Amino acid sequence: MAKILLEEAKLNPAFRQKYLNQIDLGPMRQYVSEILYQPNQARNVPRAAAASFSNLAHSLLLKYHPSQIVVYPSLFEKQPYNDNDDNILSAIRDHEGTHAKQKFYQPRLYVGHQFAFCRPTKKIRAILEIRAYQYQKFIAASEKLQISEGLRSLIEERIAMYRNLLAQVKQERA
Ligand SMILES: [Zn+2]
Repeated sequence: MAKILLEEAKLNPAFRQKYLNQIDLGPMRQYVSEILYQPNQARNVPRAAAASFSNLAHSLLLKYHPSQIVVYPSLFEKQPYNDNDDNILSAIRDHEGTHAKQKFYQPRLYVGHQFAFCRPTKKIRAILEIRAYQYQKFIAASEKLQISEGLRSLIEERIAMYRNLLAQVKQERA
């Protein structure tokens, strides 16, 4: 089967699942059950380009269960995600893969995502995001991924944003 190029997947949504199937998750493979293209944005994640979903096993606090990664149209339609293949690899394998790994070993940190009455604290969410963005940054450097300047700045902005949020949470409690 011919390889689907990013340009083709950007132009034609019918190629997007095939494009995603080509992603080599490497060491993150064991934490991810599948990568699924979802043409309709989920309401609970209105701005996400991709998200890793908690399942029933995670809600029951069962460890060692892989997560489904869901990809939305903006991954293919919005910059900086769609700048190049390495950006998408970085966003899916390194960032969402980290969330899948976090849930695999520490599902209790995520349980609140499904129940409005016990949302994870802002603090935990910020820490989980900072770790995912830092891992994304670390792998981009160590594997010399050709991620775009746009993605590099986005990663830095998000790390700064979540660090600010953490600082605020600390102040609120002080
Ligand atoms: Zn994240």
